[in-house]
Amino acid sequence: MPLSPLLQQQIDRCVMCGLCTQHCPTYALTPNENESPRGRLALIAAVNEGQLAVTPPLLAHLDHCLGCRACERACPSQVAFGEIMDQARDLLEPQRPRQQRLRKHLGHALLGHRRLLRTALTGLRWARKTGLDKAARVIPPIPAGPRWRAYYPPVAEARGEVGLFLGCINETLGQMELRAAIQLLTHAGHGVHIPPQQTCCGALHRHNGDTRAASGLARQNLRAFEKLPVTAILHTASGCTSQLREYGQQLADDTQARAAARFSAGVEDINHFLARQPWPREMRFSPLRKRVAIHSPCSLKNVLRQADAPFRLLTIIPDIELIALADNGLCCGGAGSYMLTQAERAARLREDKLDALQEAQADILVTSNIGCALHLQAGLRERGREIEVLHPVTLLARQMDKAE
Ligand code: SF4
Ligand code: SF4
Repeated sequence: MPLSPLLQQQIDRCVMCGLCTQHCPTYALTPNENESPRGRLALIAAVNEGQLAVTPPLLAHLDHCLGCRACERACPSQVAFGEIMDQARDLLEPQRPRQQRLRKHLGHALLGHRRLLRTALTGLRWARKTGLDKAARVIPPIPAGPRWRAYYPPVAEARGEVGLFLGCINETLGQMELRAAIQLLTHAGHGVHIPPQQTCCGALHRHNGDTRAASGLARQNLRAFEKLPVTAILHTASGCTSQLREYGQQLADDTQARAAARFSAGVEDINHFLARQPWPREMRFSPLRKRVAIHSPCSLKNVLRQADAPFRLLTIIPDIELIALADNGLCCGGAGSYMLTQAERAARLREDKLDALQEAQADILVTSNIGCALHLQAGLRERGREIEVLHPVTLLARQMDKAE
């Protein structure tokens, strides 16, 4: 399994200090060195050097990794753990059983076809009959089909032009958040461009051993946005935003490297963008006398490093009480497709979050990533709890007093 020399150098940067282990949710679940970041790096290095055979238990230790990148954030040697793991998974892919690979590739292919994907999501209502019940449990009722205009002009005095990325699953299940984003952006004076040629960000492909497909999707998104007169590209799901932000790194050796670097530089989390905008003087937000717990998705915290943005954004709502969900440093278990492929572990990680939420006696839970929202909502449904789970922009748009 030859890793690129650059990544081998990255692994070599690990001084085995173990400072990352205390931040690793899978090590917290199973205190086994092979379930820690340091242990996983050692496994990858040993396979790479031909000292260790690729066995199902070895693959399982790598598969248990959530890709939360808490280790990367904690590492004093700045080991690029996420990139190493992505490349290792890609190189190990041919060693997996054929059926498993086929199932995964079919799923990945679907994410790149927006219309087909929506039909498939609706079809998941029948999933219990077909044995896909793990997926059916996390899918909430599907709203009516999204219809996006290519351009939404500013409602207030014009301040600029932005692009809005829709996402694949998010386009259907995160419609409310996307509509809230359009409402807030246009009322803050921004024209919003939604190029119809855009596609899935490719995060699930990239983190699950399908780098080639991920790069193809990245190139399609570069083409979709390249001619737009925008100063920022925004999205509502922090998981996908992180992936868009890393196109430059992902396509560094590609013919599109410069375009990718330009694109990535313009990508910004929607909370972060809105929190630094001056609102028009006539904009008002209604008071909200509620306790709102903020969950910090790993992508927002460990990759974008903007976990403070939802707090800064929502403080504009009068009377709101904002609290950080306890143990925000640890992943909730959603982690892209992890909640489906490692359902039992994902549910165990979620339990602590739900307990913390109950203890905090919050009225609303806010999170900035669709995957975390679906995972946490499913857990709340299982517990028979009614608490609302919203994106910060949905909550803010709801409190907006429109002068229309
Ligand atoms: S903190 Fe960094 S250097 Fe230390 S063991 Fe973890 S990955 Fe290696
Ligand atoms: S990415 Fe997360 S789960 Fe994976 S090794 Fe690092 S801290 Fe642990």
